[in-house]
Parts: sequence; structure tokens; C-alpha cells
Amino acid sequence: MPLNTSVNKPILNASEPRFDWSRPEIAAFFDMPFMDLMFRAQEVHRENFKPNEVQVSTLLSIKTGACPEDCKYCPQSGHYNTELKKEKLMEVQKVLEEAALAKEKGASRFCMGAAWKRPSEKDFPYVLEMIKGVKSLGLESCVTLGTLNNEQAESLSSAGLDYYNHNLDTSAEFYDSIITTRTYQDRLDTLARVRGSGIKLCCGGIMGMGEEQKDRVGLLRQLSQMSPHPESVPINMLVKVEGTPMESVDDLDIFEFIRTIAVARILMPKSHVRLSAGRHGMSDETQALCFMAGANSIFYGEKLLTTGNPEADKDMTLFANLGINSEKREENSDEVVVEAIALQAMRQEESKLFYEVSA
Ligand code: SF4
Repeated sequence: MPLNTSVNKPILNASEPRFDWSRPEIAAFFDMPFMDLMFRAQEVHRENFKPNEVQVSTLLSIKTGACPEDCKYCPQSGHYNTELKKEKLMEVQKVLEEAALAKEKGASRFCMGAAWKRPSEKDFPYVLEMIKGVKSLGLESCVTLGTLNNEQAESLSSAGLDYYNHNLDTSAEFYDSIITTRTYQDRLDTLARVRGSGIKLCCGGIMGMGEEQKDRVGLLRQLSQMSPHPESVPINMLVKVEGTPMESVDDLDIFEFIRTIAVARILMPKSHVRLSAGRHGMSDETQALCFMAGANSIFYGEKLLTTGNPEADKDMTLFANLGINSEKREENSDEVVVEAIALQAMRQEESKLFYEVSA
């Protein structure tokens, strides 16, 4: 189909982010011939990032399962029987040991996820200690804890939190089909509080939940209207988990998924676009196309919250085959890492922050 919209024009000042993308403009990107779209996305990518660098994060589930929310894709929801082993909030020191291990394996950011509707007063101080400890290891920190009030957002900021993950999942129109225990506006409100407290945003969605292309357009429009854009934009492929209402939803065409990454890259040129959940089910060739479409961030390691993720060695082999390097941050020596964990353990004792929380 011929394209008469601005997407056919050469990208002038492509490095300058726009916050006013219209639905027809975004839909026109999806309609481009695949190779043209990939080429355009690569152009934008190369204007804004080192072309062969991918940021590597590790994600740890610090509190697993029994979540009161009813997200239809999620094995951690207490509404579905997925036989997931529920776990209480992890001890601070154990979390820091995992963080040190992740750093050793090359991660520059450590993300901690808790299956909560919102953090309780009882648990929240432990999370603040985890953030301080991760920072003292020389890693960037990210948490996902559910809905936040202003006070909590400010406390996270004071603890030194770098990123807060809070996904919009899909379009505002399709949202009610996926989650009924909170609204789209609830999500936007928390995102505004996080942004207002000076923390960077990690916000994206899940593809392949039975949504239509107009919903993917709607999600990307919502994200690209945020000013500034979220610094990190995870584009997830649904991982179908037995026992959830989405266990047998139809597969999304993989080229449509790659197109979604490419359009995200074009709309949000300076954001890290993260190839996230669902990566374990993709071939090396598919992942290479995702990187070519502009994905420049991954989770690696053994766990992606509660679903599988390719092993670190396999990821490194793929990186080597593609000539990709992981984005570097300032390194700490082993001694600094050991000291940071010991210091954190002492602070825990001094502040009586022993493990005594319940799920
Ligand atoms: S996605 Fe998050 S909020 Fe939704 S059920 Fe899972 S853990 Fe709870």
C-alpha cells in the first residue's frame, strides 16, 4: 500500500524525540515493507546508540507468587493455579549475594521484582536496604513493586533507585480484557509519581495476548507521548503458562513482534528497547533480527521472574557470533564487592532488619 504519511520522508533531526506521534503515523510504520522498516529502525538506532552494544540486566524475583492482581498472563497471580512455588520476601543479604553474582556474570543493572499489588509498610524498608546494597556493589538498581504512593516514590528515590519498572502491558482499550483488579489510569498515576520523584522509567508491554495491531499501536502511542520517553522500554512476547487464562492463546506472528520492536525504536530513539520475556522461545536468528530492529537491552542469567531465560553462556555465544558487546559500567574489584556485602549485613543487624516479614 502506498504511504503518503511523514514516515516516507527522510528522517531529519531523527535524534530529536517527538512526543506527538499520531495513530495513523504509527500504523503506517507497521504497514511498511519489512526490510524498509528494519532499515529505518537501524538508521535511528545508529544515530543514537553504539550499533553493536547491548545493555545487560539480571532480574531476580524477591517475592514470588500469591499476588492479589488478576493479570491473565501471569503465573504469579493468586487467582490462577499454576503450581508456582510461592516464596516470601527474600533476605536482604541473600539478594545482595545474587546481585554480586549477576555482576560477576556481566550484568550492569540488577532488577528486583516483588509480586505485590503495592508494597506494605512492613516490607518496604527491606526493599530500600536492598536498593542501597545493590548500589554499593556498583550496579544500577531497578525494582518493580506495584502501585506506589508519593511517599514511597520519594523514599525509593532517596535510597538511590535508578529505575522503576511499571508496564502498561497493552492499549488502554484492551486493558480491561487482561486485568480487572486495577485500571490503566492507576498505572499512569504511579508512573507519574515515579517520574516526579526523579527515578527513571522502565515501561513497556506484552505482545501476543490476543490483542490486535491497533492495540500495539495504541500502547506505543501511549509510551511515545510520555515526556520524556521511558528510558527503558521492555517489549515482551507472551510466555504462555499452563493454568493461566492465556495458556492457549494464538501465537503472534514473529515478524509482527519484530515490527513492534522496530516501531518502538523509531518512536523512542533515545530509549533502551529491551527484548524481554519470551526471548527463551526465540531462535538465535530471531533474536538477531530483534537486535537489528533496534533492541539494545536484554535480561540474561537463569531466571526472568518465574519463567525461563536462556543461560548466560548461550547468550554470550550469541553475542560473540553477532559481534555484540555488553554495555559497560564502571567496574568494582572483587574486594569492593565483598566489602559491600559485609557492610550491608552489618547495617541489617544494626538496624534490626532481620528477616521476619511474611508474604
Ligand atoms: S504481573 Fe505483577 S501485578 Fe500482575 S499478577 Fe503478576 S505479579 Fe501481580
